[in-house]
Amino acid sequence: MKPQNEQLMPESPEIPDIMKSLEQFYMVNRTDSEGSIIYANKNFLDTSKWTPKRILGKTLWQMFPETEASQNQAHAIWNTVTNGKTWFGTVEKTTRLTEPYFVTMIAVPSIQAGVGLVSVTFLELDITDDVHLRERLQQIAFIDYETGLMSRYKLETTVNESIAEDKHFSFVYITIDHFYTLKDLQSPESEKELIKSFTNRLKRFFQDNPIARIGVNEFVVLTPFGDWYVQGFLQFLEQQPIYIENSAIPLSVSGGIVRYPEDQLTYNHLMKAALVATKDVMDNGGKKIASLSAASHQGLNRRAIIDRKLLTALNQNNLQVVYQPQFDVSANKVNMYEALVRWEDSELGYISPDELIPIAEENGLIHEIGAFVLEEAAKLATEWNDKGHAISIAVNSSVREFSNSRMKDKITKILEETSCPASSIQLEITEKFALQAEEEQSIIHQMKELQDEGIKFALDDFGTGYASFRFLQSLPISKVKIDKLFIRSLLTHSKTQRLVEGMIQLGKSLGLYVVAEGVETEEQFELLKTMGVDAIQGYYISAPVSGDKILLDN
Ligand code: C2E
Ligand code: CA
Ligand code: CA
Repeated sequence: MKPQNEQLMPESPEIPDIMKSLEQFYMVNRTDSEGSIIYANKNFLDTSKWTPKRILGKTLWQMFPETEASQNQAHAIWNTVTNGKTWFGTVEKTTRLTEPYFVTMIAVPSIQAGVGLVSVTFLELDITDDVHLRERLQQIAFIDYETGLMSRYKLETTVNESIAEDKHFSFVYITIDHFYTLKDLQSPESEKELIKSFTNRLKRFFQDNPIARIGVNEFVVLTPFGDWYVQGFLQFLEQQPIYIENSAIPLSVSGGIVRYPEDQLTYNHLMKAALVATKDVMDNGGKKIASLSAASHQGLNRRAIIDRKLLTALNQNNLQVVYQPQFDVSANKVNMYEALVRWEDSELGYISPDELIPIAEENGLIHEIGAFVLEEAAKLATEWNDKGHAISIAVNSSVREFSNSRMKDKITKILEETSCPASSIQLEITEKFALQAEEEQSIIHQMKELQDEGIKFALDDFGTGYASFRFLQSLPISKVKIDKLFIRSLLTHSKTQRLVEGMIQLGKSLGLYVVAEGVETEEQFELLKTMGVDAIQGYYISAPVSGDKILLDN
């Protein structure tokens, strides 16, 4: 018989170079003891879209999405490895271009005697396709596969069924506080264990009421009972603590309660309101499940009413367009107007565009609003044109409108129908628009086509975003409007003054037409003139007025 240790020892004692083999299949990167990246292999660079030069010195945390949940997970991983343990689990990461991808990750610390942590090696396998497949399967199955609770999709159908039967219920959103920073939760197993135990508490307390898991640590319960019953869950949790590896986890939850039909009428609105109520609770320290505060309730209701009434308002022609003049300095007269939308409703009062446009962008009616404003502006410009006034009109456009690949055709059609020459219309875009346009080639393409037809683009709110200057190179822009924010402190802050002067000079050196907006006083007007601005817009010239009040004198 062979001695035992000989059996354990292979015949040939050469250990294959494991790292070399792993590098063929795994994405590998390594950080120093501070979490700064010191090495990344080709697989890693290919997927993460970093170049070898750029990635060096970036941190582990920069490879994770910027959301709180992801950053907390990165911290949890880092805590595990700095304690000398290996970490294994599923992770969402982000490429240099902030596109998400999913990996299973093994994080291995290298510890040197007497020195401590020297480096950490991360081995990752891309499982993005599996995650998408699992998400799709889950969507089909309607079941959260980890807990057996309803999935988000099943929740939505259940809520809609209850609404159809006009059953009254409380929509209760519950989230576990500080989930990712909870002590003792540094392995995926203990995380799963906690979710399982928490699910078990929910089931025992809420019994036959529908319970859904809609995120890692987010749950929704539908119950016919009111606040007092739901809040009982907090005491129940205290009396039934959750143990992981023999120690009680100091667990607390935050949540919001919204009633159907008293508070909100649709699934989307219930969900949104419950999140607002939960945010109110968290802003006040968490550890509570509370109903919507009166103030939040009012705000949400107003939003819901605007959402509901907007289509009717559009159909009944209740929206108006007003026009604000732009004074051209060298011609010493008004040479164009900006069209601004207005809505006054008998129940809601005055709804400002700043309130209206985001809602319309969300419910899709921005397309109708955009078409309406452009049509009104084009009609007026044609009328002026016919009378021999060479005055153009600027219209604000929202990026949502341009995500329609037929936007260019829509604009051309409106101009044709109103016999409006393209040179009489300008389009104003915001930084948010520009940022999106850079990412979607079809938007830039449509902008260029419109420019070829004679429509000019202006960059609105110039100077407020971080990439204003870049857009001037990448997009077909021929005009900038310096934001009213800068004009407001022009005379009181010398720094602002230098900044505005710089913006004007930069704009002019690039051959752009530079407008200052929000000019309210003669002093501002005079100073901007000496700085060489091309045009001025603001209450000093005139507030926006309705089209029929505009008298042209040349
Ligand atoms: P904006 O394009 O920067 O429009 C200028 C805003 O400043 C207008 O507010 C205007 O009334 C206001 N304003 C003009 N002169 C002065 C001034 O001297 N001092 C001050 N403090 N304010 C002045 P309004 O009409 O409330 O519009 C707000 C924003 O809503 C606009 O900002 C624009 O981004 C958006 N918006 C307005 N109409 C439309 C539209 O038809 N479509 C889209 N997509 N957005 C629109
Ligand atoms: Ca504008
Ligand atoms: Ca502006």
